[in-house]
Amino acid sequence: MRFGSYVFEPKKVPGFDFDLFRVKPEVGRRQPPQPDMYSNVAIFGDNVTARNHPEWVSQSEYGPGLRTNERQNFRWDILCHTVPEFREEMLNYIEDVDRRSMGVWLNSIHFADYGHCICPRCKEKWQKSGLSWLEWRKKEVTEYIAQVRERVNKELVIGLLPDPVNSYERFGIDFDALAPYADAFNVVMFSKTYATPWYWEMLSRAFKKLLKKPVYISLYVYGPGDNPKEVPSPEELLMVSVRCGRQGIDGILYLADKASQLVDFQKALVDKVELRQRLKNYGCPEVLELVERWEDIVG
Ligand SMILES: [Zn+2]
Repeated sequence: MRFGSYVFEPKKVPGFDFDLFRVKPEVGRRQPPQPDMYSNVAIFGDNVTARNHPEWVSQSEYGPGLRTNERQNFRWDILCHTVPEFREEMLNYIEDVDRRSMGVWLNSIHFADYGHCICPRCKEKWQKSGLSWLEWRKKEVTEYIAQVRERVNKELVIGLLPDPVNSYERFGIDFDALAPYADAFNVVMFSKTYATPWYWEMLSRAFKKLLKKPVYISLYVYGPGDNPKEVPSPEELLMVSVRCGRQGIDGILYLADKASQLVDFQKALVDKVELRQRLKNYGCPEVLELVERWEDIVG
């Protein structure tokens, strides 16, 4: 297993196998890529572009791809998948990010959710395609990732939302169709609590079964603006890491706003001596060895 830091600032965290920097998160703000970090780029989730180009926002009978859509509860604003100018600009951007960093980890590669996008351009493209609605959406998503692949010379990892069953119907994502273009997949499993590890373990098992490339999962440690009382506890994070890890996934990333929050997280896990002992028979020595390594770094 490999373990990564996953941060909103351009700062590596000692003790991880690799570092992933959010150069363009879904809020849409862009920061320069770092030569010694991987770059995380959210494509169609983009609050800044949605604000500058409201005419590009994804449309559906359930409402637009906006945070204000309470029928679908989006965490960020989402653009139509087929805006030619935006697609082209993002291809050039991703190529540049790849050149200036260790590789690209994508998020938000897909249609917003069920029923998106029914803007006039999408309707016309679908009708001309002669395909079913769902097959047309899959074709748009897959072909765009094929174009991205042509621009990325280094590592390309495709981020997925944690829905192993309905990603095709909801997002136009076909895991098998995307696999040839991906060096790995990253399933984001962000939550403010991991109090019930059984569910996360089930998702890890499901994705490991379905995906034909290495599978990373991303866990939530501390997000921007979080109340420290409302983030997952170190105990929960250690337990869920071990239980997901034992399902054969290939790595875990830990998300935090700041690198210093991950250092605090490392210290907190090192201090959980009893729990670390108790987890020895759980079947995932890799996670416990990672925490052992941290003893020398933060202890
Ligand atoms: Zn559209």
